[in-house]
Amino acid sequence: MKEFFKLPWGKVEGLAQEYGTPLLILSLKQVEHNYEFLRQHLPGVKIFYAIKSNPDLRLVQKLAEMDCSFDVASEGEITSLVSMGISPDRMVYANPVKTYKGLETAGKTGVRDFTLDSESEIYRIARSNPQARVLVRIRVDNNHSLVDLNKKFGADPKDAIPLMLLAIQEGLEVAGLCFHVGSQNTSADAYLDALSISRRIFDDAALQGIHLKILDIGGGFPIPTGDLNMDMASFMDQIHYGLQSLFPDTEIWAEPGRYLSGTTMNLITRIIGSQIRNGRQWYYLDEGIYGTFSGILFDHWEYEMEVAKTKKGPEIEATFAGPSCDSLDVVFKDYKTPPLEIDDLVLVANCGAYSSASATTFNGFAKAETVIWEEVEEKLQEEIKAVS
Ligand SMILES: *Cc1c(COP(=O)(O)O)cnc(C)c1O
Repeated sequence: MKEFFKLPWGKVEGLAQEYGTPLLILSLKQVEHNYEFLRQHLPGVKIFYAIKSNPDLRLVQKLAEMDCSFDVASEGEITSLVSMGISPDRMVYANPVKTYKGLETAGKTGVRDFTLDSESEIYRIARSNPQARVLVRIRVDNNHSLVDLNKKFGADPKDAIPLMLLAIQEGLEVAGLCFHVGSQNTSADAYLDALSISRRIFDDAALQGIHLKILDIGGGFPIPTGDLNMDMASFMDQIHYGLQSLFPDTEIWAEPGRYLSGTTMNLITRIIGSQIRNGRQWYYLDEGIYGTFSGILFDHWEYEMEVAKTKKGPEIEATFAGPSCDSLDVVFKDYKTPPLEIDDLVLVANCGAYSSASATTFNGFAKAETVIWEEVEEKLQEEIKAVS
């Protein structure tokens, strides 16, 4: 199994013809591979998939079948999992600031585990969900990540114990500690630093009579695109050894989003416009920044595209824009490509995380349809047989 899913070019044309473009292709085998890889390299760690990275029901279903648990952040995510038959005791409500609707839905459905990072949230949870078990989220500074969530969330580590004491005073069960090192984090050191800070807090808590049971190491594991060139096994093994030496008897949770979903999807989009503007080549695609490419804005992601090998000729630098009437809708600038023509197809791998999840229907463009690779692959083969 490859580290990431990429359609063979031979299939791209057939898929575009059969299903139209823009088209997303999801590989459930890749989902399975990613989950198994995590389980293998972080043995004993309970995995909560952060569904915000890609809430596709078939992807979620696949993970649910493999016994994965889920990190939820809103009433919508809770309700969607409950309606799929996933038990609330497989969910952690990991948004440190929850809406009233979210708290109410958690209470009604029976979600019991919550994270928090402030005094005010302790009072809100104690009032609405007195049966809650809570994990205190601390801030861990990190400059190895693409998106640093510690700017928005996490209590100062020195405030962790006072928060725990207050939560207990308010009648809540304090179960543990959590952090999020930031997203697309490429260094195991960030986790190891966070583990030693956490160890100190666990020890200080014990001195105060608070016996913490759970450490939640959050998400942030990177999407292993070919470009990243990272040894994921060694990255995770380092975290595993850190856990073994510092937390041998603690229940460990993790909340990966992008690592599980990022490599599972490909996009096929088509060139629908071509013109020279101010001496520069512009191509217009039928998918843009308000659709699957929304990750450019929301996740600071740089997508990689590929065109058919049969496209030859001296490379040019071109701008690729999306189909909407907004000038913000530019996907690639000064992108090196062989000259292309109307109707040429463009393939984008590694667009499973924070891409379709944040797509909109702005300007009336429907979201790209998603098909399952393992299902359509068979169908394409049958059709080829039927024709020949
Ligand atoms: C977004 C988020 C995650 C997942 O982050 P990734 O970078 O996708 O792994 C996990 N936990 C929390 C609390 C989050 O907000």
